[in-house]
Amino acid sequence: MEQKDLDYFKNLLTQWLDELLGKAGNTVVGLISSEDHLSDPLDRAVFDSERSYTLRIRDRESVLIKKINASLEDIEDGVYGICDDCGTGISIERLKARPVAGRCIQCKTRQEQRERSTGVR
Ligand SMILES: [Zn+2]
Repeated sequence: MEQKDLDYFKNLLTQWLDELLGKAGNTVVGLISSEDHLSDPLDRAVFDSERSYTLRIRDRESVLIKKINASLEDIEDGVYGICDDCGTGISIERLKARPVAGRCIQCKTRQEQRERSTGVR
């Protein structure tokens, strides 16, 4: 991969990470401040279901944050855009669509087929 492409993805990933971390921060503040005045059981139930929804989203975000960090490390190590499984380069088009992709499209497809047939995720 050329240096200008690496710079492009580094910027993209860094901005994405900043956005996610900014949003994650707000969610925590929201959780703490809204918990103070909840004595009504109904409010409490609504709050709990909203909170579990928020936490589910945050779970997904934290997975994404880990992937972004791993991709940024790969850029530093000079192995970004190389498939984890077969070691060939992942196409720029695929990385633009999914900058945290760790596998080339062939290996990804194979992995998904394996998961579907075994039921393991
Ligand atoms: Zn591969």
